[in-house]
Formats: sequence, C-alpha cells, structure tokens
Amino acid sequence: MEEPGDRRPRIIVDIDNTLWHLAPELWEGLKKVNPEMPPPAEWDSRRSIERFMPIKEFFRVLKVIHMRQEIYPPFPDAEYFLRALKERGFYIVIASHRSPETYEPTVNWMQKHRLAHDEIHLSYDKSVLFPGSIALVDDSPINLSKALEAGILGTGLLFPWNENSGFPLFKTLIEVLGYLDSKLS
Ligand SMILES: [Mg+2]
Repeated sequence: MEEPGDRRPRIIVDIDNTLWHLAPELWEGLKKVNPEMPPPAEWDSRRSIERFMPIKEFFRVLKVIHMRQEIYPPFPDAEYFLRALKERGFYIVIASHRSPETYEPTVNWMQKHRLAHDEIHLSYDKSVLFPGSIALVDDSPINLSKALEAGILGTGLLFPWNENSGFPLFKTLIEVLGYLDSKLS
C-alpha cells in the first residue's frame, strides 16, 4: 500500500483490454444471451448495448468472466510492461471497472502471471484516482477523457472502439511504454 509521504509517481493501469483481451470473450458471452449482439467495435454507448439486452444482463455476463479471470492469459507483453514501470520507480495502481466481489480471482490472476503492482482498485469509477496521479493506461475513451480533464497523461492500446478518439494509442504495451518514457522522463 501507499504510505503517507510515498514520493513515487502514481500510474493507473486498467485490466480489461489493457492487460488481457477481454473483448472476444465478452462478445462470446453476450452472443449466448442474444445471437444478434454486434461485435465490440460497435458498442460505443450504453444505448447501443441496450438495443440488444438489458444493461443488467451485460454486467451479469461481464461478472461471470471476471469471476473466472484466472483461466485467461494476459497479453504476452503485460508482465514485461508492469515490471518495466516498477523499475522506473512508479507506484502502480491496477484499476478495473468490475465488481469488488471479483477481487480474489483478480488478485490470483495478477499473482499467477507475475503482473507487478502496488495496489488493486476495483470500482465503477476509477477517476477518483486521477488527482495526484501522473498517468492512466486505459483503452476507454471515457476514462481517457476524464484523465485529460484531470490534467494527467492518458494512453493505452488501440482498438476499433477507440481508434477515432484522438488519444495517443498503440498496438502493443511495449509501444505504450515507449510513449510513457518519451513523455515522463
Ligand atoms: Mg479497459
């Protein structure tokens, strides 16, 4: 945990579609509820999901996946990425939009794959962490916009749902690291 007076710059790192590829898994789950569910690239708002199922169903499917987080592999460069942040002296907060009830499988997954971190924050609003942090790594244009408003650096992986958002987004975490190095060193 962060001690009072900890001077390490704090960086916030998302989990879903940042440290592992949630999107195809979630799409599979949602198609079982409604086979008409379009691909993740087209989920640009809550309304676009609610055309196909109640939002409660969406979150139920998501939670089922998060409860069995341990069976999914992280992105191949996730371990290196987090270790590199640690070596650069960052205080790493892993922040995911998921039920606090999924804490245990989430922690187990992080440990199983040696994903370095200092703290895990599970909630439905990670923007409470932005003041006092230096950067956010996330794929969500909503979160990246909030980071921009809070005056912190925002970057993450490039996907169909964020490619036109105007944020600095990259194909791999190694490239994200290079971007952070260029901006924060
Ligand atoms: Mg995400």
